[in-house]
Amino acid sequence: MSDCRCFNPPFDYQDYDTSPVGTDMTNGRYGEVTLKTCKHCGTIWLNYHVEYESYTASGRWFRGPISRADATKMAPESAIAYLERLPWYFAGGSYFRSCGERWSGPIHADL
Ligand SMILES: [Zn+2]
Repeated sequence: MSDCRCFNPPFDYQDYDTSPVGTDMTNGRYGEVTLKTCKHCGTIWLNYHVEYESYTASGRWFRGPISRADATKMAPESAIAYLERLPWYFAGGSYFRSCGERWSGPIHADL
């Protein structure tokens, strides 16, 4: 399963069926939370994207695998804490100058 495209950056949005979870307003972040289901292997990815328009290179996203049971219960405000508890997640975006690397531990979603 980890050989799938969805485990190997860079990622292509066309590989996924995306459904919105909502917007995380914690600290006024406007974090966009979505679930992306891989069309190839069925893995569900919890996606968190945040960008601060007034600041260049502030865009960042985080994504980690989530079970179907957890996905149905996911709330926008819980997404960061969920990702932080995973053994690893992908992080990328202009803030990291990266198209996706494996990370673990605390997530810095604020400026
Ligand atoms: Zn996949």
